[in-house]
Amino acid sequence: MKNYGRQANWVRRNCIGKGSFGVVSLAVDESNGRFPFAVKSVNQNSGNLLRCLENEIRILKSLSSPYVVRYIGDDVTCELSTVYRNLHMEYMPNGTVAGVGKLTCDNANLRGYIRCIASALSYIHARNVVHCDVKGANVLIGHTPGTAKLADFGSAVELDMVSVLGPRGSPQWMAPEVVRGEYIGPESDVWSLGCTLIEMITGKPAWQDRGVDTLRQIGYSDDLPELEIPDTITIDTCESSPRCVFDWSDSSSSEEFHQFNNDDERVNRGTEDW
Ligand code: ATP
Repeated sequence: MKNYGRQANWVRRNCIGKGSFGVVSLAVDESNGRFPFAVKSVNQNSGNLLRCLENEIRILKSLSSPYVVRYIGDDVTCELSTVYRNLHMEYMPNGTVAGVGKLTCDNANLRGYIRCIASALSYIHARNVVHCDVKGANVLIGHTPGTAKLADFGSAVELDMVSVLGPRGSPQWMAPEVVRGEYIGPESDVWSLGCTLIEMITGKPAWQDRGVDTLRQIGYSDDLPELEIPDTITIDTCESSPRCVFDWSDSSSSEEFHQFNNDDERVNRGTEDW
């Protein structure tokens, strides 16, 4: 395998992912038995991109959960006369849930992934952090079948900061209130979780990408995404779906919540050392 850059104690290898904010490479720590990890890097002079990575480093550093990709470290390197800011994370080699497609994602895996993302959201929301970019490409598949971890905290915000921020995230996963610029909060992550579930079931985003028209449809119409459920998936459907936080019924059963927490504890105990 080629070496793309050499630093004090680690070596950058091939690119394993590219997003709009940074390049993610595989890296090995030569001082530690060639331990592989993932490095997200941006040019130190990249202004807004650098601010996003600094935000991600600060937030990821403060989190520790089996459902959130693990922060390992951060540094600055000079490679072929370019200066990079780097975030080191655990390496998750099995891809993202965006790639699972409708043919390969069965009921058990689907439930497992959703439980892991919901647990990640429950964990970060309890710490006043809103992810703001929940989507299949930001959920990394774990080592055990049906497990996953939430990644890409570049758009994440602390709740006391949201009033000074405009809409953020990926349009096809954005909640209506975020599109309208009215509100960003834990509830908007839950909407995006619903869009991610649809994405996993159908193998494509919940809404077609039609630019501004899609934003208008999400934010200003009563339309809901079309959902064709394949035979392999069994899902209990409900009568109506809330379109804003005020539609959320108080009656959402505390029994279900209690059951979820019990299940969550079981998953936690079983996955402490992923
Ligand atoms: P976006 O355009 O969604 O904002 P981004 O620039 O913030 O993307 P990430 O989403 O963090 O970048 O990463 C891009 C891709 O790199 C991911 O979709 C995934 O395929 C890969 N990736 C990210 N982190 C890891 C990791 N820890 N282990 C393995 N692959 C990873």
